[in-house]
Amino acid sequence: MIKYLLKCNNKHEFESWFSESKEFEKLKKQKLIECIFCQSIDVDKSIMSPSIVCKKKNVEKKLNNKDFIKMKKNLTKMKKFVEKNFKFVGDKFPQEAREIYYDNKKNKKIYGTVTSEERLELEEEGIELTSLPWVDNKKN
Ligand SMILES: [Zn+2]
Repeated sequence: MIKYLLKCNNKHEFESWFSESKEFEKLKKQKLIECIFCQSIDVDKSIMSPSIVCKKKNVEKKLNNKDFIKMKKNLTKMKKFVEKNFKFVGDKFPQEAREIYYDNKKNKKIYGTVTSEERLELEEEGIELTSLPWVDNKKN
């Protein structure tokens, strides 16, 4: 089972379980996914990138769209916060996240990048990631 954070065109967010990653696309095409708040069928997976993981739940903040807009103004600030408090592991993120998840003694805060495939694998293992909007100076 995979849990996705979904968002409708009215910016409602809710979580939903799917038996496999393809099921979301399938159900969406058949218009079988609707917002639990407004019944809109214009529902998508929340786009997230990159990801952070740590054991303390309160550090993981799920961002809804309103927060996102607010956060956009503070992206640089937030980036600094993450860079200061989280260890950058780059594309070693899936590996490091597993170490933290399976080793109870570890309580590191890390951030890095995952491909959508790696993300799905981690989610299937029950490792919850939190993704953040990011400012990349190299792009844009
Ligand atoms: Zn809605």
